[in-house]
Order: sequence, then C-alpha cells, then structure tokens
Amino acid sequence: MNQTPPRRRLKRKVRISLLMIAFAIPTLFMSFTVVKSYFADEKAMSKEMINQETPKPEVPVTTPEEQPTEEAPDEKEEIVEPPTGKVVYLTFDDGPSHLTKDFLDVLEANDVLATFFMQGTNLQKENLQDSVKRATENGHYVGAHSMTHDYKTLYKDFQFVAEMRETLDLIRDITGTEPNLVRAPYGSAPGLNSEQARNQIVENELKLWDWTIDSEDWSLAKNPSQIVTNIKNSTKREQEVILMHEKEQTLAVLPEIIEFYKSQGYQFAVYHESYHFELNFQGDDRL
Ligand SMILES: [Zn+2]
Repeated sequence: MNQTPPRRRLKRKVRISLLMIAFAIPTLFMSFTVVKSYFADEKAMSKEMINQETPKPEVPVTTPEEQPTEEAPDEKEEIVEPPTGKVVYLTFDDGPSHLTKDFLDVLEANDVLATFFMQGTNLQKENLQDSVKRATENGHYVGAHSMTHDYKTLYKDFQFVAEMRETLDLIRDITGTEPNLVRAPYGSAPGLNSEQARNQIVENELKLWDWTIDSEDWSLAKNPSQIVTNIKNSTKREQEVILMHEKEQTLAVLPEIIEFYKSQGYQFAVYHESYHFELNFQGDDRL
C-alpha cells in the first residue's frame, strides 16, 4: 500500500485545517450580517406597523431634542457683511418686462449684481415670471414698485402701503424670497410728504429707497449716450444708487455704465436687508 509518510500527512492536515478556517471566517461573518439585517428589518417592520396602528396625536409632541436651542442658527437672521469702500448700486424700475432676461444676461456677463423694483401688474404676467425667478436665483434683489404706478391712487387715495404689500406678496409667490424694500413711483417726494402716510409704511415694516443719481434714462430713447453722460457727471459720492429703468436705451449703454464704475474703482453691490441704510428724499430715518 502506498502509505503517506506521517510528516507529510501532518502537513496536509494542517493545510486542510487552515483552508477550512479561511472559508469558515467569512462564511460565519456573512451569515451573521444576514441574520442581523433580517432582524433589523423585522424590527423596522413591526415599528412601522405600530405607527400605522397608533392614531397620530393632534398636538405634535416635542421631544427635548427637537426643542429649538439658542445655538440653532436662524436662516432669516444670517449676517451679511456690508460692502465697504466705493460702492455703486445699480437699480432698475418698472419691470419685469420683455427685456428683463437681456438685462440679466448683461449683468451676468459682467459679473455684476443689481437691485430691481418691479411692478405688480407686470409681475402678474405669467410669461415674465421665469425672468423674475432667474433674477433672484442669480443673486439680484427684487423689491416692490407698487401695483398701478398711478400717482393719484398711491398718494392721494393712500393706497401706497396696500399696493406695496400686494406687490411684495407677488414677488414672494414667484421667487420664494421675502423682500421688504420698496421704491415709490416718482420718488417719495412729494407723494409721501405727509408723516401720517409714512407712519403707515413704518407700521407695516417696509423699507423705502429713493436714489442718489437719476439717469433720466426713460426720456432718452433717442439719445442713449446722454444716459452715460448724466451718470458720469453725477457720480461723486462714496456710495451711489443709480435710478434706471428696463428700457431699450438703458440696456444698450449698460455695459458702458458698468465699465465706467469699474474704471473708477467702485464695487457693485446688491441691496440686502441686513445692511439697509436710509435713502429717502423725506429724510425719514425710520424708512
Ligand atoms: Zn417707476
């Protein structure tokens, strides 16, 4: 008989045992994992079933972990650093319009942010709402410029606050932002000369901005280069807020206006509630 020598037999035995161990460990581990996940599923299922069976309490129960802590960051109260040095705010009134998307293109191409004051009757036009949404998504600010833009209705019939609130609601519905800055059609003077009218604005927690430079762009359809001249001649403050409108002639010279402020060392800023500053012809520091 071909007998295997004892030493080789021993060696083979050791090899077989090692092989068996090598297989056994992963197999055991795998079965453990399978069993564990099975029980986990069971547990989850029974939990779910319990949840289905238990009627939900009408008053939500707050566990201690869910209670808001003082450290919890409040998104609404995020602090944004105000811009410093020479700062220019480009502002565009009376939109949205069929030109809004073109204004956004120019601003985007020049990496500049701006502040828009939009009118309710235009915001209601569904075909313009994508541009409004895009404006806030691109980082621009969209504030309110009344529903009707009508002097008599706003200032003589005291519809100013009601119209601004309605316009702000529209902006909120379209963009999801919650602006509180408004621009008075024709400026706050003389329309808001009455302190009573301004009290209403304060009580409704609205802020109001006029401007430091009137480009008079709306009247310069036939002479767009005069818009640039007007702006250049009036620029003298550390902080300028330029009144412009969504007009063809304004769009045409916008790159030139941006170029001018860049050459003068201004940085472009966009309005933000956290660094609001007083800018109204009434000199009312509550607005
Ligand atoms: Zn206007």
